[in-house]
Formats: sequence, structure tokens, C-alpha cells
Amino acid sequence: MTSVLKVLVISSLFLFLLLLTACASAPERTFSGEQAYAHVLQQCALGPRPTGSPAHRALGDAIIAHLEHWGWVVETQEFTYRDTPIRNIIGKAGEGPVVIVGAHYDTRRAADREDPSQPVLGANDGASGTAVLMELARVLEHDRLRYQVWLTFFDAEDNGGLDEWEWCVGSSYMAANLTVRPEAVIVVDMVGDADQQFYLEHNSDPTLQRQLWDLAATLGYTATFIPEYRWAIYDDHVPFARRGIPAVDIIDFDYPYWHTTRDTPDKVSPESLERVGRLLEAWLERE
Ligand SMILES: [Zn+2]
Repeated sequence: MTSVLKVLVISSLFLFLLLLTACASAPERTFSGEQAYAHVLQQCALGPRPTGSPAHRALGDAIIAHLEHWGWVVETQEFTYRDTPIRNIIGKAGEGPVVIVGAHYDTRRAADREDPSQPVLGANDGASGTAVLMELARVLEHDRLRYQVWLTFFDAEDNGGLDEWEWCVGSSYMAANLTVRPEAVIVVDMVGDADQQFYLEHNSDPTLQRQLWDLAATLGYTATFIPEYRWAIYDDHVPFARRGIPAVDIIDFDYPYWHTTRDTPDKVSPESLERVGRLLEAWLERE
């Protein structure tokens, strides 16, 4: 072997090793829309999941097991509302100011926009936000978190107006019983629509909302994160916003199957879930 060849071989070997190291130090896990969509299917396979039902209890248990599997410290908040057991589930990881990333995991017990005698399956309204949080539990790298993140699964959001139930029962309880003041609250609800459009929401903190929509633009999501106001929604962010905590609701409220029996997994797409998950991942993790 000539010395020139030797140098070439050694330098290309060096380059190869360098590439290997670069690959190894890149983020190991990135939010997968397909994985999140699998969580939508798993939830819907349980059937409708209204607060207090066995399917809802089973989902809560599965969420706890999933969080623990991925190294999150789990706490529950349990109380009774109108003779019904309620359970908020919180998975905690990371250090720094507390940030709540929340979604409701219950489904509405009556499809009252169509047939109140039937329950809602809630592929989008319930399962999509829950699925995004479950996939975040897998992919967020705890030592790269900019905050102490509380992945929060709110109970009893979606029976408002039925038999005098209120909306947002679980989140109201949590907001009223905080011992730490969170830096921010981000709620994801109805985020899986295959025909996805997120508008700015009037009850959300304008500064934090702009920050998120700007970040979405840098990720190339300008067609789905539209920086114009549209709805004012009473969702799980409001109990926190009322206490002066910056809170944002990421919600696509233009969903014709809302509170009908047609809110099924075929209306939800992995790509839609992935955009929301990657936005939150980018916001929560250091570069
Ligand atoms: Zn709903």
C-alpha cells in the first residue's frame, strides 16, 4: 500500500467513525404520527370511554402503565363528582419551571348533536389529544427538557350540559388545588382531524399562542397553524387561564363529526397527530 493510499484509507475510516458518532449523538427518538395513531386505535378498541365506565377505568390504568414504562413519575388526583369517581393522571419528568401539557381522556357519554341515546367513540374528541400525550411520553428525552413537564390526562371534560354536569371537571379541580404555579399550560383537544386547521383561540394567552404558531411556521406547518382568530372555546385551559396562568388551547373546532357517533378513527390521520406532537416536542426540548 502506498502511503497516499494509506492516508486515504485511514482518513475515510476516520470520516466513517465521525459519521457514526454524529448519528449516535442525534436525538434518538422523534414523535411518530403512526405510533400516536396506534394509541387512537387502542383507545377506540375499548369502545366509548365516558367518565365512570369500566372502559374509562381501563384506559386510565393503561395510561399509568405507559407513563411508568417510559420513566415518568405518576401521580393521580382522585375525587368524587356527582357520585362518580374522577381521576386526573399526571406524569412528571424534567427540571425547571413547571409546564402542564394536558388533554382530556374521557369521551362524551351522549352523541347529542345527532342521537343522544348513543355514546361518542371519540377518536378525535378525547383519543387524539390523549394519543399525542402518550407518544410524547415515549419520545421526550428527560435530560433535554427545558421544563419540569407534567403530562396531564384530565378526566371528566366532556359531559358538560348532560344531567347538569359541568364541563372541565377534572381540570377545574386541578387548577383549584395547585400547590405550584405552572409557567404555562398547553391543552391539546381534537387535534387529529385529517382535514386539520388550527386557528388562534380567544381564551388562550396571546403571547404563548403566537410563540407556538411561530414555531409551527418554522416547522413548515403554515397550512395547518393559521395565525387568525376564529373560536372562543371553554376547554381545559380556561380554569388555569382564570387564575392568571398563561394557557393555550390547541384545538381544531371545525370538525363536522363533533359529538356524533361518526367521530371514528377513519376521520383521524397520523400526519395530523404528528404535526402537533412534533410542535410540542420542539417546544419542550432543548436544541
Ligand atoms: Zn367534546
